[in-house]
This record gives sequence, structure tokens and C-alpha cells, in this order.
Amino acid sequence: MKRKQERARQKAMGGSVEREKVVRDVQLPEAIVVAELANRMAERVGDVVKALMNNGMMVTQNQTIDADTAELIIEEFGHKVTRVSDSDVEQVIDSVEDNEDDLKSRAPVVTIMGHVDHGKTSLLDAIRNAKVVAGEAGGITQHIGAYQVNTDSGSTLTFLDTPGHAAFTSMRSRGAQVTDIVVLVVAADDAVMPQTVEAINHAKAAEVPMIVAINKIDKPEANPTKVRTDLLQHEVIVEQLSGEVQDVEVSAISGQGLDELLEAISLQAEILELKANPDRAAAGAVIEAQLDVGRGPVATVLVQNGTLKQGDIFVVGEQWGKVRALVNDQGDRVKEAGPSVPVEVLGLNGTPEAGDVLNVVDTEAQAREIASYREKAAKDKRAAAGAATTLDQLLAKAKEDENVSELPILVKADVQGSAEAIVQAMEKIGNDEVRVRVLHSGVGAITETDVGLAEASGAPVIGFNVRANASARNTANQKGVEIRYYSVIYDLVDDVKAAASGLLSAEIRENFIGYAEIKEVFKVTGVGKVAGCLVTEGVARRSAGVRLLRDNVVIHEGTLKTLKRFKDEVAEVQSGQECGMAFENYDDIRPQDVIEIFEREEVTRTLS
Ligand code: GDP
Repeated sequence: MKRKQERARQKAMGGSVEREKVVRDVQLPEAIVVAELANRMAERVGDVVKALMNNGMMVTQNQTIDADTAELIIEEFGHKVTRVSDSDVEQVIDSVEDNEDDLKSRAPVVTIMGHVDHGKTSLLDAIRNAKVVAGEAGGITQHIGAYQVNTDSGSTLTFLDTPGHAAFTSMRSRGAQVTDIVVLVVAADDAVMPQTVEAINHAKAAEVPMIVAINKIDKPEANPTKVRTDLLQHEVIVEQLSGEVQDVEVSAISGQGLDELLEAISLQAEILELKANPDRAAAGAVIEAQLDVGRGPVATVLVQNGTLKQGDIFVVGEQWGKVRALVNDQGDRVKEAGPSVPVEVLGLNGTPEAGDVLNVVDTEAQAREIASYREKAAKDKRAAAGAATTLDQLLAKAKEDENVSELPILVKADVQGSAEAIVQAMEKIGNDEVRVRVLHSGVGAITETDVGLAEASGAPVIGFNVRANASARNTANQKGVEIRYYSVIYDLVDDVKAAASGLLSAEIRENFIGYAEIKEVFKVTGVGKVAGCLVTEGVARRSAGVRLLRDNVVIHEGTLKTLKRFKDEVAEVQSGQECGMAFENYDDIRPQDVIEIFEREEVTRTLS
């Protein structure tokens, strides 16, 4: 916006410049070397350096100056300024707001979520089998990651055929909010389970309306009332209990209630008044993508606005391409796909990732340019990831920005009791400026799904006596999600409270220094049980603190009684080497347990 105004102003001014001088249009990036600035204006370097001196800037021709200073100089020489930034290449993507009159209603996009084994897959299959018109090739429908069905009352619904909360959240964290409605499947014989709660939290974080499908109603032990009352505890109040969330009793096996469920979805869709403009360049999101041996990179794209046509040139994430063919959910070739229609797209130059956004552009050069700009930007971001969202920065941001009054966090703990205690304590914190919002809390190791949800909401993950598993740790490192470990609730509360009120005092910070895995356990007379270990990361240090982790849960914390390399007592053992370790006053150690080695130091923290 600003840039546009600036450009208009420059244009208006351009007319008033002296005639005999050649007025040049100078492309000005965010920073420029003096010599290059002179070059772009076709002025002598010496003159430019002199002009800068006159303005009080002592610089040489090889120094870099900022765009504001450069702009002054350019104007002084009577040239026109065009400010450009690297990201300007993205501007060719058509981002014009749609005119209200051009909008037509579109099918809702539905994601099915719920606890494992509650029947997500069965329900998706049942709906597909009941409603998809059998294709010519004997009714074999193709799995492309999404499908559309027509209800008896004539509405069309799009189902994402990729159940799993990770997919939902990873799409969201990549900026693609594709789901309009979440169907929460709860088995009537099992009621609310941990992943049910996780699903509720995901849907709430994404602000997507929910419909509850109480599944397995055919089972004799089905108890739908328990499902409804259990849900109350998680602030999901279903219609049967005078709430606003629609609930439908279904059976994926007998087919009972399927039509009611579809009608409930259509009704919810009507309330949402979902619209899109089919007559514009297409924009969509990747649901699935893979490298197909015969067909090359293939992506299933859900068109979100506009119409995607054969021959269209597009950029998708860090890839680009030209639509060679479109294949629909029935396996048929189609010429085009409108809003809410899932299609397989062929003709990519590389494999994008689920959640990447696809945009149609005018020329191949633009598509290439945007893709390579994004590739570079992504590289830079990964490099800077380490420092992205730390608790301190987040709080600092929350304090600066009056609009960010909520500090989102994610809590994983060793037992339900601690998780609840932490959530309660967190909710009590908060003052006028910052309020803590627990996005999700659960029991067990920190997983990739947790990190995904945290990234999507810019939240840190708090592990209370639990650790992140290896893949979660990698993802967190890559995405710059902060994981903090605690073993005392007070410490956690104090940290958050102190940071929130800006009273940051000296803190005992814990530094992780290594991991060792127990390979074997020996009994040594006079010493007790000794663990034969392999140091898998960092170093093991005799003087450091140690914790024993079993399945990523902390079961003991203490110090070492001995650290041995072969027969010798040593101070340190490096990664990749084997060693013997024994704990002071503790010997319930088992093979496969992991020993975490850490040190404490006192640091003064600052909110910056
Ligand atoms: P998901 O893990 O949520 O995808 O669950 P699945 O769809 O794999 O279902 C788990 C198990 O529950 C399977 O053995 C299904 O046959 C069974 N199941 C699913 N829906 C129903 C139902 O409505 N009634 C009964 N009796 N069994 C069901």
C-alpha cells in the first residue's frame, strides 16, 4: 500500500524535473552499495559520495546505505525512485479482492477427526461407497486424498480423505486453512479419549465449527449419552443438551445415520455461507503430493478460489509448473476444476508439500522467479529458525503489541494430574496485558503433532517430566519451535509469571549437554547396578546432573556415582563412545532407558 502511494507520488513529481537531464527510473532495494547506486543513476561515483557527505554521511563507494538515505540522494539528482523489495516478485500473484456480485456458493470442505479406532476411516469409506456415483470402470474410485459427494437434498460436500490431526495442523501451519467443518468422530462404546480432546483443541485453535458424529451406535454396549456428557467437560455442548454443536448418531458399519450426518453438514455449510469466485485465476492448497514413477511429481490440489484449467501456469510453494492434465476423484481426466473441487495436477517441476498454496500466474518466467525467491527465503528462514519463537520473545512481543494479549502454550506432562495442575495454574496467571492460553494439554512424550500445533499458533511447548521424541525434536529445531522442560511446577509458573510481568530476575537455567542410551545393565559387587551405555548426543560428564528417561518420561533425577570408560573413572565421555554409568542412590535402570545429562547455570534474563 505504502509502496504504491510512494510510486504514485514519484510519478506525479517526475513531470517537474528539468528538461535537458535524462531522468532515470532507479530501482531501489532495501539496501544498496554506494557505487551501485551511482551506476543505477548513471552519475559519477565521486559526485554521489560528495552528495552523501553534504548530507552528513561519511561513506566510501563500497559501503552499503539504507533505502531512505538513498532515496534522498536519488531525488537530489533529480531521478525517479522505484522501491523494490525481494518479495515484490510475489506481487504478480492476483490478490484482488473479489467483488461481492462475482461470488457463487461453494461446497464445504470437511475433515474427519477423532481418536484412533473410533472409525474415521470406516466413516469416510462408508460415505464414499454410499454416495459416490460408480464410475464407468466398474465403480472403482481412485484415492486422491479427497472426494466429493452429493447428498439426497442436492448439496455437494467435499471430504478430505486424509484423517489424522497432523495433516490438519501441518496444513494450517503452512498457511492453508482448507477445512470449513470438522466432523468429530467419537465411538459410542469408548466415549471421549485423549485424541478426541486433541481434535477438539485443533478445531478450536483453527476456529472451525464442529459436528459430533457418535459412531458405532450399532454396538450393544453403545452409550451415546456418556459421549454427550463427556464432551461437556471440554466445552463442547451438543444440541441434545441444548448446546449449539450438532450431534448425529451413526454407524459406519450398518450405514445408520449417514444421511442425517450429511444433512447436518449441509446445514452447517449453509450457515457459513461459503462462497468463491469461479471466474478468476485459480488459488488452491496441496492436500497430498508424491513423486509418481510413471507420471512424475503429482499433487492433489483443492481449488479454493477461481478455476484451475489445463494449460495454466502456476507456482506452488517452492515449485512451479504448467498443468499438463487434471484428474478428478473418479479417476477421470477433466479440463478444469472450480472452487472446492479436489483434482490431481500433473505437470509440476518438483514435488510440493502438503499445505503449500498454489497460485496461477501469467507467465512461466514469473512462476520460475517466485519459486526461486521462495526457495531462497525458506533457506534463510531455516537458518534463522533457532531463534524464532522463544518464550521470552513471544512475551516481549505480547507486551509490545497491544493486540497480542494472549500467550499460547502447549503442555505435555507425565501424568494427567500434573497436566491439570499446570493448566489450572497457567490459567490463573495473566494480568491486563498478557493472558496465558493453553492450546492443548496431554499426557506422554512431546510428538510431531504437538510441535505442528505449536508452530501453527506460534506457541512454545512445555514438557513437564516428559521429553520430545526424536522426530519432534528435529521438527522443532527446523521450525524454530521452543520446547521447554520442567520438573517443578513452581519453576514453570514463576518463569511464565515473571516474564509476563516483566520482572525477570536472575534465573537458574538448565543446559542440556548430552544423551546416553543404556545398552546393557550389569551387577557389580560393591557398586550395585551399572549401566553399559552409548553416548548418543553431546557428552556425558561426571559432575553433571542426570535424569533417567523411560519412553521419554522422566522417572528419576539425581547425580552420578560413577562414570567409567573401560576400567578407568573419567570426567567426560564424548558422543559415539561407550561408557559405564551408575546413579547415586538409585538402581532401577533397564536397557533402552535413556540418560539425560544436564548442567545448571545462573543467568540474568532480559526481555528482548
Ligand atoms: P480410525 O482409526 O478412526 O480410522 O478407525 P477405523 O475406521 O479403522 O475403525 C476401527 C475399528 O472400528 C475397525 O475395526 C472398524 O471395523 C470398527 N468400526 C468402525 N465404525 C464402526 C461402527 O460404526 N460399528 C462397529 N460395530 N464397528 C465399527
